[in-house]
Amino acid sequence: MNLKKSNLSRRTFLKGATATSVSAGIVGATSSSLLLSGCSFETYDYVVVGAGPGGAPVAANLARAGYTVAIIEAGLDPKGTDVEQIDSTVTTIYNTPVFFTATAEHPLLSWDFYVNNYDNDEQARKNSKYVEGKGILYPRGACLGGSMSHNALIFVYPHDSDFNEISDITGDGSWDANKMREYFIRMENCTYCDVDATGHGFDGYISSSVVENITYDLFPDINDLSNAGAIIPSSFYVGNEILDINHPLVAEGDVGKFLTPMHVGNNKRVTVRDYLVETQEEYPDNLTIITNALATKVLTRKKAAIGIEYMVEGGFSYSANKLSIDAQKGVKKVIYASKEVILSGGAFNTPQLLKLSGIGPAEELATHGIEVICDLPGVGENLQDRYEVTIGVDLKEDLEIFSNCQAFQADDPCLTSYLSGEWETDGNGTASYHGPYASNVVLATRIAKSSESTGMPDLFLVGLPAAFSGYFPGFSQVSSPNRWTWLVLKAHNKNSAGTVKLRSASPLDTPIINFKYFEEGNDGSGSDLRAVVEGIKMVRESLSLPEANQHIDKEVIPGAQVYTQQDLEDFVRNEAWGHHASCTCKIGSDDDPMAVLDSRFRVRGVKKLRVVDASAFPKLPGFFPITSILMISEKASDVIIEDAKNHNRRYSEVI
Ligand SMILES: Cc1cc2nc3c(=O)[nH]c(=O)nc-3n(C[C@H](O)[C@H](O)[C@H](O)COP(=O)(O)OP(=O)(O)OC[C@H]3O[C@@H](n4cnc5c(N)ncnc54)[C@H](O)[C@@H]3O)c2cc1C
Repeated sequence: MNLKKSNLSRRTFLKGATATSVSAGIVGATSSSLLLSGCSFETYDYVVVGAGPGGAPVAANLARAGYTVAIIEAGLDPKGTDVEQIDSTVTTIYNTPVFFTATAEHPLLSWDFYVNNYDNDEQARKNSKYVEGKGILYPRGACLGGSMSHNALIFVYPHDSDFNEISDITGDGSWDANKMREYFIRMENCTYCDVDATGHGFDGYISSSVVENITYDLFPDINDLSNAGAIIPSSFYVGNEILDINHPLVAEGDVGKFLTPMHVGNNKRVTVRDYLVETQEEYPDNLTIITNALATKVLTRKKAAIGIEYMVEGGFSYSANKLSIDAQKGVKKVIYASKEVILSGGAFNTPQLLKLSGIGPAEELATHGIEVICDLPGVGENLQDRYEVTIGVDLKEDLEIFSNCQAFQADDPCLTSYLSGEWETDGNGTASYHGPYASNVVLATRIAKSSESTGMPDLFLVGLPAAFSGYFPGFSQVSSPNRWTWLVLKAHNKNSAGTVKLRSASPLDTPIINFKYFEEGNDGSGSDLRAVVEGIKMVRESLSLPEANQHIDKEVIPGAQVYTQQDLEDFVRNEAWGHHASCTCKIGSDDDPMAVLDSRFRVRGVKKLRVVDASAFPKLPGFFPITSILMISEKASDVIIEDAKNHNRRYSEVI
């Protein structure tokens, strides 16, 4: 969706920032004071870094359990009055599901990382999205809610085997898939399921909902394009009549066409931001939220974490911030944790912060002159992602679904329908429908298994009435009213060779991120690449069926000329991207030298320090990671509370 209003320049921001106060916002100010060497310091039981789906639930749950918690977040509150005063459209963009691409580029909600997919420069430059001197744009959420506040809202349960494997690797049976389902049930508020639906929750803080079914009746072209060649999953015949992708049987490996839920409630984006802020309001003495604060170091003593050093207004000093402000650089504060420090900065920032703190591969730390606290070679290794490409077709006629929308114009008919729930039909009156703004317009989903997979299904195919071909500066502004796109997402990849390495010892620099795609990675067999090509062929096959084909003018991405196996492999090699970076501080067994965490999220070799975010997985779970990250954050809450209760000696003795 083209959303020009989301263009916020650095100048606009600075003007807004002087008019309002975007200094480090601290909400909830209670902390105990610890007397150390005659000085007074702010001390909480727990200090959490990062308010994404990894950090926010654990922070909120610990506060609800009666502990004092401070959470340090580099970004701002997407629903806060300060951001609203700078750009009055932010909260609308955040709330309204269809504007998800605009959230991913909005300077008040996201950071721009630039990553490398290859070491080989010549190969890297073949990607049409490559930005000279930088690499490939990789957006990351930087606000309360983290990347969940700017993502595509897709809310899909992983495969059971993802958790059973962690149980097998670590010997910790609490990771068993049946037990992990309980964490999903705890955090979900399913608004589309029957009240007795198995495997779902109804009292949690994340609402899940699905696209209004009437969409397919109102727009026959979408119905045809979505359904051509679709197969009914086997779970349908044994109880999954609504084709729910989050049905427990699908987690066992079902394939076919499904309904894909969104983390949306009452037609608005729902994220952990809301759970965090509501917890703060209910437990003001327990939870302190510090925004626009960049954690720069984990403070340690005798190989135990004792607190966090952070930079006030540091979120706007980090070089991934589009609005980076030099003037604020350098003002640092410290905050102490009497029990534990929990890192949840995401797959790029958590390993960066560990390394900056002297916890990581000794050799790499030495090159940057960082004192080694703990030589942990696995930090920043094992980086994994999906491979994604799109097949785009131009239709003979513009898609009707968006034809009346005039985003951010007065009297926008689509906004009127969004708010009223009434949609004007072609001269036939009105239909009960909130229109396209109420969803992420993921109007078709299929799970498939490539011939390369020896385990779970590995292909996720998504149909969208939009033009999309990956991330590059300005991607959210691209609009093509007659474009239908199928996204091919390849999951359960063999490649795990990516790395996050320090660019410098400065916490303001982004790390150097390299995914080492295909031949540069550790899938020597070429299996990942061939599976993506199979996905493209599956999409082409369904588009060639009369039901879909009657609407199509021509394929524009990759285009009919890209046809042979070799051409298709080259297309994938050149154009593929990912957006689920994970696994850079993996949980592993005691005898795995590359394991960074144990099965209780504890950093090996450093006491009182845990990692709870997408970095923790040994393998990237399922097709989309949000559910899994929320589930591990719930699990971590239980584990940490259990450990706190069982701990015989006082944590503060270490200080
Ligand atoms: C464009 C896009 C679309 C996506 N769509 C989907 C989707 O539809 N469904 C899905 O399941 N997944 C999706 N994802 C992926 C998913 O959102 C992320 O994998 C997930 O949010 C990662 O959670 P996390 O807690 O590990 O890290 P994040 O969500 O990235 O949160 C980390 C937080 O820590 C903060 N932080 C980082 N470093 C510091 C520091 N030093 N000091 C203070 N704060 C810090 C950041 O500002 C951020 O708020 C998408 C991702 C992107 C980029």
